Amino acid sequence: MSRPLVADIDLDALRHNYMLARDLAPDSQAVAVLKADAYGHGAIPCARALEDLAPALAVASIEEAVTLREAGIATPVLLLEGIFETSELELVDRHGLWLTVHSEWQIEALLSFRPRQPIPTWLKVDSGMHRLGFSPDRVETLWRRLQSATAQVTDLHLMSHFATADSLQPEYFHRQMQLMKMLSERLGAPTCLANSPATLAWPQAHGAWNRPGVMLYGSDPLEAANGASRALKPVMTLRSRIIAVQELATGEPVGYGGRWRAPRPSRVGVVACGYGDGYDRHAIDGTPVLVEGQPTCIAGKVSMDMLTVDVTDIPNAAIGSPVVLWGRADNGAVLSIDDVARYCDTISYTLLTGVLPRVPRRYHGNRA
Ligand SMILES: *Cc1c(COP(=O)(O)O)cnc(C)c1O
Repeated sequence: MSRPLVADIDLDALRHNYMLARDLAPDSQAVAVLKADAYGHGAIPCARALEDLAPALAVASIEEAVTLREAGIATPVLLLEGIFETSELELVDRHGLWLTVHSEWQIEALLSFRPRQPIPTWLKVDSGMHRLGFSPDRVETLWRRLQSATAQVTDLHLMSHFATADSLQPEYFHRQMQLMKMLSERLGAPTCLANSPATLAWPQAHGAWNRPGVMLYGSDPLEAANGASRALKPVMTLRSRIIAVQELATGEPVGYGGRWRAPRPSRVGVVACGYGDGYDRHAIDGTPVLVEGQPTCIAGKVSMDMLTVDVTDIPNAAIGSPVVLWGRADNGAVLSIDDVARYCDTISYTLLTGVLPRVPRRYHGNRA
């Protein structure tokens, strides 16, 4: 028998979530964001599962794009941060990639390049995120310059990113939105603005394209869930088993530092999953876990290869009992990764991208 920890990936749920993103924005196309190995789910199987649905994919680097091409994926791939050095343009051209340009040097490099065919290019505007992009007062000049470079550039779009689209306080979102609306109207420019929260909650942000990421994997990025986000299905189930059970008298501590002490005569299950697998060591006592499909919680600090859960109220819990760290249990119970993240003082994105390579991914559903 091998170590029971696996990440089950439900490709039907991925397709369901992609179709939800698409149906929420019927006048837009949706780029499926597959950066960071599809948020830890495996970029190649996820790209294959979306091949007949998604007209374009997005990644963070040329390496991620080339990995998809080498796996035979022919869908257009957008580089969200463009190139990091000029020499990458050769690969952009060879593999038919789409470019973001956010810096002067990238534009200069592109305009001095001689591609075999013009490159679809998205001009990144800093509408308020203050991370990447050109300040709004530069955009018209750059837009016209790119537009006239017909040997290098085709299918020009304006792109921007929201800082607070997930928030219940919409003022800053509206400020960014107003600016982008003004720019796109002045230039007659098609836009790509919406990330997952804006796709879910802000129809006015839907452009020619949207860029849903984390919602494709079933996480709800909104501060307050809405009807659309409640329809998302978890894609990854991180599951393991109990490998030992401890019977403890009241007051006995568990694990490093004895952080958790039995408040009553207790049974504690030891689960094969730890921070060496990517489970967050910041998980506090009380972090939710499913054992035998029943809700319970972490009791004691997470170790490298193991964690401990209180199974006092789950009488049938024993060695071999199935454990779900997040995702869907066999009885249909769902433990939202967003809930787990709150107890770890983090967000689903870090938990998903943090699942380490030693956790085998097992694919189910469409094209698994
Ligand atoms: C990662 C990323 C996205 C997707 O964001 P989500 O919050 O996961 O939907 C969209 N646009 C850009 C530029 C990104 O880097």
